[in-house]
Amino acid sequence: MPDDAGLQALREAARLSPDNLPLRRHLAGQLLAKGYLADAEAEFRAALALAPHDPELIAGLADAFIRQSAFGAAMAALEPLLATPGHPPAVGVLAARALLGEGDPAKAAYRYYEATSRDASVADKELEARITGAAQPPAPVASETAGAESPFLPSVPLPGDTSTAEVERSGVSFADVAGMETVKEALRIKLLLPTQQPEMFAAFGKRAGGGVLLYGPPGAGKTHLARAAAGELGAAFVNVGLADILDMYVGNSERNLRATFDLARRNRPCVLFFDEVDALAGRRSDMRSAHGRQLVNQFLSELDGVDQNANEGVLVLAATNAPWYVDVAFRRPGRLDQPVFVPPPDRQARAAILRILCRDKPLAEMDYDVVAQATELFVGADLKGVVDRAVEAKLQQSISAGRPIPLITQDLLAAAKSVRPTAVREWMGTARNYVMHANDSGAWDELMPWVKMKW
Ligand code: ADP
Repeated sequence: MPDDAGLQALREAARLSPDNLPLRRHLAGQLLAKGYLADAEAEFRAALALAPHDPELIAGLADAFIRQSAFGAAMAALEPLLATPGHPPAVGVLAARALLGEGDPAKAAYRYYEATSRDASVADKELEARITGAAQPPAPVASETAGAESPFLPSVPLPGDTSTAEVERSGVSFADVAGMETVKEALRIKLLLPTQQPEMFAAFGKRAGGGVLLYGPPGAGKTHLARAAAGELGAAFVNVGLADILDMYVGNSERNLRATFDLARRNRPCVLFFDEVDALAGRRSDMRSAHGRQLVNQFLSELDGVDQNANEGVLVLAATNAPWYVDVAFRRPGRLDQPVFVPPPDRQARAAILRILCRDKPLAEMDYDVVAQATELFVGADLKGVVDRAVEAKLQQSISAGRPIPLITQDLLAAAKSVRPTAVREWMGTARNYVMHANDSGAWDELMPWVKMKW
C-alpha cells in the first residue's frame, strides 16, 4: 500500500464512490506513474469492470503488465485493440514493447513502425534502438527484394515527393537557450550572418549554405539549439530522425531522403535538422553492402545540392551523440564541415537552464544556484525532468489543498533526488578514448579540455 498522502486521499475518494470512472481512471494512472505496479494493475482492472472496452484503460493495464515483465498478459490485453483498424498509435508502441519483451523483435518492429508512421510523436528512441539492435535484419539483396513486402518494416508509401517529416514553426530563439555562448556564437557566424548580411559574405567570396554537425552527450540540448536557430532566423524547422527515414529496402531510404530535402527546399528559408546522423554510418558498416554506400552518397549529394542553388535558404544541422561513427566524408568543406560541441552544462549554465524552464511556473522563493549545485552531471533533458516532476507533485498538492501552491527551491531539490541523470560520465569516458587514441586528424581537439576534466 503506497504511503503517499495524495494517493491515499485519491484511494479513499475512490472507495467512497466506487462507480466514479474518471476518479478511478485518475487513481490508476497515478499509481502507474508512481511505480506502484501491482496496485495500478488492480485499479485498472477495477476501472475496466466499469468500462470494459475503454482503450485508455486497456493500454494502462497493459503498461502495468509490461513494467512487471508480464509481456504475455500485456499482449493478451492488447490483442482485441490491435485488431481494431485505426487503434491509437500509442497502443501499437506498447505492443512493440511487449513483443520485444517476449523475444519477438520482428513483430515488435512491425508494430512500432506501423504506429510511428501514423503518428511520429509516439516515437520512442530508446525502444527503437532496442528493436533495431535485436532485429538485426540481414542485408537484403536488391534482386531478391524488389517489390517485396518487408517482414520488418511496413513500407510507408511515399507517392511522388511526399515526405514523412513535418514542417514546424519554431517558437523558441537563442534567448531560450541558456549558456552555450560559444556554441551560439559559432552558429550565428555559420548560419545567421550569411543570410542576415549577404553582401558582406559575397564580398569575401563566401557562400551561405553547408551545414553544421552538433555533437555531444544525449540530452545536452542539440535539438533545442537547432530549433532555436530556426526561430532566430525566422525560418521553418524540419526535424527528422535519420533512423526514421532509413528503410531496409533498396531505393526507399533514398526516396525518403530526397523527399525530406525537397520538403525543406519548398519551405525555405528552412533549417533542416537531422538527428542521429550516425545511424547512416552504423547502417553502412552493418550492411557492408553497396546499398549502404549508395545511401551515404545520396545524402552527400543532397547536402551538396544537385545544382549550385538547390540548397539556397536551406541550412542543414545534423546532430549525433556518437560523432566518431559519422563518416569523414560528411566533414569535407561545404558539407557538415564544422563540428560544434554541445557540452554538458556547468553549474552556472544549469542554474540558467532551470530559470528558463521555470519561468512560466508559479514560483515563491527559488534559489536556482542551490539546485544547480545539487544537480552535478545533470544535462538539460534531466533538468527538464526535475522541473516536470516537481510541477506534477505541486499540482497534486494544489488539488488536495484546493488552491495553487507555488514552487519553492525545496520542491526542485526533492525532485532532483528522484531523477537519475543521463550518462554524461560514460559519454565522457567514450569520448576520452577517441580523443586520446583516434584523433589523428585533430577532429576532436575541441573535446580535449573537456575529457581531461574530472567527471
Ligand atoms: P539532445 O538533442 O542533445 O538530446 P534536447 O535538445 O532534446 O537534447 O534537450 C532536451 C530538453 O532539455 C530540451 O527540450 C530543453 O527543454 C532542455 N534544454 C537542454 N539544453 C537547454 C538549454 N541550454 N537551455 C534551455 N533548455 C535546455
